Amino acid sequence: MALQIEGLSKSFGSVKALSDLTLTIPESTFTCFLGPSGCGKTTLLRVIAGLETAQEGTIRLSGRDMSKTAPAERNFGMVFQSYSLFPNLTALQNVLYGLECRGWAKAERHRRAMEMLDLVKLADQAHKLPSQMSGGQQQRVAIARALAPRPTVLLLDEPLSALDANVRAELRGEFRNIQKELAITTIMVTHDQSEALEMADRIVVLNKGRIEQTGSPVEIYTRPRNRFVADFIGNFNVLQVGAGGDGAIRFGSQTLATAADASGTDLLGIRPEAISLSPEPLGLGNALYGEVTRVRFLGNIQVLTVRPDCAPEQLLDVELHGPENIPQPKDRVCLNFAADALCGLSQ
Ligand code: ATP
Repeated sequence: MALQIEGLSKSFGSVKALSDLTLTIPESTFTCFLGPSGCGKTTLLRVIAGLETAQEGTIRLSGRDMSKTAPAERNFGMVFQSYSLFPNLTALQNVLYGLECRGWAKAERHRRAMEMLDLVKLADQAHKLPSQMSGGQQQRVAIARALAPRPTVLLLDEPLSALDANVRAELRGEFRNIQKELAITTIMVTHDQSEALEMADRIVVLNKGRIEQTGSPVEIYTRPRNRFVADFIGNFNVLQVGAGGDGAIRFGSQTLATAADASGTDLLGIRPEAISLSPEPLGLGNALYGEVTRVRFLGNIQVLTVRPDCAPEQLLDVELHGPENIPQPKDRVCLNFAADALCGLSQ
């Protein structure tokens, strides 16, 4: 079901955690609330769950106002960072628990609990206690438990952040597949950009209790609206530009070819991987000569920092794949990029 959030504000004393947020979460989508520590993402999730009360604003589920509905009556499933399973109950008993509380008939609740454990690939571990399972398995049980009562919305509060990198990578795919299979409206809080980019249909970038940008992962990544989003979502080159007398956009002493959405701003952004290096111009639209000042080896990629001749105070990063033919510090290079690789940013 779709969620409509309108004019939501929440303060803790003098701390304004959420400021006049308006947002729609479309039905059956996977939405990530993404932002740095303290930006308000957990508070927003908790207000949606009914665990916190907002001072202003409304939350509607398919048009119905939820503001006065108690958390238990919202029929939302929740999974937290800490697995929060009952330690003295087996995986099966943990999943059964919520169904018992909701008065499901015995045979039906057993069938449903096993169906959910099967969905998270743990049917053969149903008899185990949480202490006998890995962190990843415990989090799968937590998902099975949250999904068992057929919630209308699934709320995930950093469910993967306590897990080690390999398990996290595996569960990203699994959680996403489960969400798609059940077509359940899902919101996940995360501070991990790559997690949001990989899993979400839509990302809501939050900063200081406000929405900076909402969009698909591709939109957020390739067309960040402002400097905050550009800096937060991976590595991004921000170019301070000015208008020349002829109206052309100038980067230091050189004119840049830009697309329409780059006009009317003095900040342009470009991803390091959108720049190609060559000894001579490649004819992509823009070619800047410069000198390599630094090379960083990051395993699958190498990041070169280049000082452009036209604007020596504005260093640009370029990403290269593969270990061969990597220029070294002090090498002369040409940076090539297309006009539409540059996007306009507001401050
Ligand atoms: P993190 O990723 O660190 O969990 P977050 O983005 O989820 O951060 P919130 O936990 O929502 O941020 O907190 C938003 C702001 O509200 C912060 O300044 C936080 O200190 C404050 N805050 C949150 N909960 C409370 C509370 N119960 N009492 C007082 N202040 C709170």
